[in-house]
Amino acid sequence: MNEIRGIIGAAIQHGDLTHDLDNEQTGANRCQIDEIISAKHAVTFTPDTLVQAHSQGYDNCAYCIGDSQR
Ligand SMILES: [Zn+2]
Repeated sequence: MNEIRGIIGAAIQHGDLTHDLDNEQTGANRCQIDEIISAKHAVTFTPDTLVQAHSQGYDNCAYCIGDSQR
């Protein structure tokens, strides 16, 4: 399907969120990771950790990670 794994960021107009692909929630209006990737909005981190994502200003997805910081 795609080669992106681990933590990804999604730069979208409603706010930058991180998703954990190992815990993707696929229901309606959940993570929508496939849509994010197909729209080329996915961002990867090096290393792909939440700490790194947070340091770049990304918040947690409420569905696959939870504990939103905003
Ligand atoms: Zn998510």
